[in-house]
Amino acid sequence: MAIPDVRRPDERLNWVTSIPFFLVHAACLLAFFTGVPARALVLCFALYALRMFFITAGYHRYFAHRSYRLGRTMQLLMAVGGTTAAQKGPLWWAGNHRDHHRFADTEQDTHSPLRGFWWSHIGWILCDRFGSVDYDQKIADFAKYPELRLVDKYNVFGPWLLAIGCYLFAGWAGLVVGFFWSTVLLWHGTFTVNSLAHVVGRRRYATADTSRNSLLIALYTGGEGWHNNHHYRPSSVRQGFYWWEIDTTYYVLRTLSFVGLVHDMRRPTKKHRLASRIKDGNFDFGMFRAYWTKASGAIATARADAGERIGSTRQSLDDAVHSALESAEELSRASRRSRRAGFAE
Ligand SMILES: [Zn+2]
Ligand SMILES: [Zn+2]
Repeated sequence: MAIPDVRRPDERLNWVTSIPFFLVHAACLLAFFTGVPARALVLCFALYALRMFFITAGYHRYFAHRSYRLGRTMQLLMAVGGTTAAQKGPLWWAGNHRDHHRFADTEQDTHSPLRGFWWSHIGWILCDRFGSVDYDQKIADFAKYPELRLVDKYNVFGPWLLAIGCYLFAGWAGLVVGFFWSTVLLWHGTFTVNSLAHVVGRRRYATADTSRNSLLIALYTGGEGWHNNHHYRPSSVRQGFYWWEIDTTYYVLRTLSFVGLVHDMRRPTKKHRLASRIKDGNFDFGMFRAYWTKASGAIATARADAGERIGSTRQSLDDAVHSALESAEELSRASRRSRRAGFAE
């Protein structure tokens, strides 16, 4: 059950395909030559906020989780807007993200933080294993639209066109500060939802993963820092469940719903919000499994070190590890079943 530390060959960093990723970071240093004029800085801020919205509202809450409905034209606009964030296409992004929820914190999880901070932050992006996504298996519901397949395939045009636009708008500083700075900030802003939001913050709900709620992360990601809420109710368009849980993406979507551009927003009811809370004694299987995974890894290492000395107890140790974990899983399943029975949508 423990996630192996050993990387598969296709999970190692591919230096060749990762060159653009490192070059974009290096390009930020060109600001020493271009300077940082106010016009370029405003462009940087605006492009960060706008593109973060396309990622959180579009790639994440719409394409990955279908937490609201859009007309076909708006859907296309959201997809094209998302490509400008240089995070590949909407079908690739959403397809891989669905696996993060489906297999959270197991070997099949796209970016489990149990495999280390760097793996969940950028390691999974810079290796070959997740380089492409099987449309039919992962995201057939959106891959059926030919225009979305086209946008996904030619996603690279988004950032290139935006970069040219930045140059035309504010010269070289517009390109370096406006485009490259905001792109790098945006990357790491998005990536910290996969890495830090499973490490920093508090857990309100007993989910089967290590997700947490963090105001700080929510502030710079447009509301994605309420990650424990999100893992608890992935289909909710609203990730901040209470008025004090700032969720700017949701505020914008709500405004768009007033003018008829966004429909059928799914929100948690009060019953949902009050169920499954850890403080009410629900079994926190996610953290239990995380600690258990770490402990069983440590036991395995110690066992290998000890070698022959504990040879005869090896099998009984294995059995103990497995049976304890199976009992915990059963307990978690039973708790989830009773939750579903009580709060079916
Ligand atoms: Zn997560
Ligand atoms: Zn999600």
